Amino acid sequence: MHGAGTPDKKVKTTCPFCGVGCNYDLNVKDGKVIGVTSNLTSAVNGRLTCVKGRFGTDYVHSPERLTTPLIKKNGEFVAASWDEALDLVAAKFNEIKQAHGSDALAAISSARCVNEENYLMQKFMRAVIGTNNVDHCARVCHAPTVAGLAATFGSGASTNSINEISDDKVIFLIGGNPTEAHPVVGAKIRQACRKGAKLIVADPRKIELAAKADIFMQLKPGTDIALINGLMRIILKAGWHDQEFIKNCTTDFDKMAAVVEKYTPEYVEGITGVPQHLLLEAAKIYATAERAAIFYTLGITEHTCGTDNVMSLANLAMLTGNVGKLNAGVNPLRGQNNVQGSCDMGALPNVYSGYQKVTDPQAREKFEKAWGVKLPDKVGMMLPDMFDAAVSGKLKAMYVMGEDPVLTDGNTHHVHKGFESLEFLVVQNIFMTETGKLADVILPAASFAEKDGSFTNCERRVQRVRKAIEPIGDSRPDWEIIRDLSNKMGYSMSYTHASEIMDEMASLSPMFAGLSFERIDEKGLQWPVPDKEHPGTQYLHKDGNFTHGKGIFKAIEHQPPAEEPDAEYPLLLTTGRILYHYNITTAGYSKNLTAHRPEERVMIHPGDAKSLGISDQDTVTVSSRRGSVQAKAWVTSAVLPGGIWMSFHYPASPTNQITSGAYDKITKTYEYKACAAKVEKTAV
Ligand code: SF4
Repeated sequence: MHGAGTPDKKVKTTCPFCGVGCNYDLNVKDGKVIGVTSNLTSAVNGRLTCVKGRFGTDYVHSPERLTTPLIKKNGEFVAASWDEALDLVAAKFNEIKQAHGSDALAAISSARCVNEENYLMQKFMRAVIGTNNVDHCARVCHAPTVAGLAATFGSGASTNSINEISDDKVIFLIGGNPTEAHPVVGAKIRQACRKGAKLIVADPRKIELAAKADIFMQLKPGTDIALINGLMRIILKAGWHDQEFIKNCTTDFDKMAAVVEKYTPEYVEGITGVPQHLLLEAAKIYATAERAAIFYTLGITEHTCGTDNVMSLANLAMLTGNVGKLNAGVNPLRGQNNVQGSCDMGALPNVYSGYQKVTDPQAREKFEKAWGVKLPDKVGMMLPDMFDAAVSGKLKAMYVMGEDPVLTDGNTHHVHKGFESLEFLVVQNIFMTETGKLADVILPAASFAEKDGSFTNCERRVQRVRKAIEPIGDSRPDWEIIRDLSNKMGYSMSYTHASEIMDEMASLSPMFAGLSFERIDEKGLQWPVPDKEHPGTQYLHKDGNFTHGKGIFKAIEHQPPAEEPDAEYPLLLTTGRILYHYNITTAGYSKNLTAHRPEERVMIHPGDAKSLGISDQDTVTVSSRRGSVQAKAWVTSAVLPGGIWMSFHYPASPTNQITSGAYDKITKTYEYKACAAKVEKTAV
């Protein structure tokens, strides 16, 4: 609890902090959220919550909330009425559209916002503006998951369910640290271990679960494909592969097998640094189990080979028949609370809701008929394209909802320059962000506690977000703002409740056709849910029936990171999350949580620290080819010699000013997990 007194009411809702999607009760007194208590009817978490969910919602009443629209005049923000602000935005968007065409505008939607708002943002950009230039932060995290699992399994989402974890018998965790980033999943993995599950962990850092693991493979960053190919070669040589599953349910096995042939244990040890005996033991545990589940997060996706990494994991699961059944599968733990949903809703430049392609004439015709407009047939810009186009002058205006790319995207100097180059920038958020400071107009949004809607968690469960209090100040739910702006621009939207938006989305999206607020009220529903009687889908690809027919093996070679250490920048930097923080800590974010870890710390191996004359807690400067930031040294053998690790949570130490601007060749997801850097003790 972060307030005092007995609540007047408790409102069950979905946590806004991570993709696990815990439900709990917001305790409300005198129109204010005073705390959070467990709700035992919660489908995903029951009684469990983590420190973020339990104590982090104090941000709702932060004095730093935006409470009125702001218009920049002579370089200063001036308070404005909603009519003034929306009239200005509508006029400028129309003017730019007339002068430069629809593709001169772009929008960034938000994985923090509810599904209905993401659906409406992509509809606004497509139907009202006339462009497919809409994207969101999945681009900088799990876009490779969507692309990689769609290419191999036909469906770009987690195959299995969170409640299976505590009964899993073998868990292979790679490139993820759920204890801190997805704490309730971390707790369920520990439960499984207590019940006798075997745990294999592969990570460049000794994360907490490494200590619980039967096998810990501390691989060099960016060597996942070599590791997975090595495991597959061992499995094939030992005859532990599932020949029936491969024959009946998959294609292109031979191409994959030919490529992995050269990944001998010795060769793989040379690339990854993982001793051969650990490879052999890990392969045996995973492949000889009756069922084995893979879990991963951004350590897999945020590489120049992120999509290939994901497809490699899909290869491993198909090779051993570990798909299409309980306690198995390939399970990406999505980062933000609604990053699954914002992809599902079509806040992407290539698809409408339900992953219906904008290039598919039939899909386009359906949406044209429903929305009463002619729609663009060309795939829109991805996030990095938007910043390039802004810098070059091709993109003139952007509408940014609920994100702060100036701090979150890779090589943020370039992102900053992109925003500065625009003719007109609109930022819609609950706080003033670094991106917001560059805006021409600020539109104050309501937080999750102040609106109705739904979030979709990382196991595809669509769950209710319920309004507990009135919007703070003059803020409004994002969907209302988009609706009102659309009306000002001459395209009529008449929604009076978020449920009407879900109904429209469901009527146009076959995989979500069975969704409605009524049906998701109690426990939510896991998609696909193709009709109003369908009970939802606990696990995908049952009995090896993949979404697009047969599972497709991909032949994938190891690819080194875009930037490797050299004489000038001799260390390899990787980044990630810590327990108390939630992505970028904007001003106004939970004081309860930030008090626990108020500043950035850079992990450095004791051997490297000694040779650089650095002691624990020294202030150091971490530099790459793109810039420098300061942080406190954390001397620890949790990282490998030659490796350093930082989080990305602190505006005062903006790690992404030094991370790489290189990105995955398929999805343009930045390579946050590997860049060359150096560390120097800061002179005092
Ligand atoms: Fe919220 Fe994630 Fe913590 Fe659950 S695990 S309470 S969803 S932050």
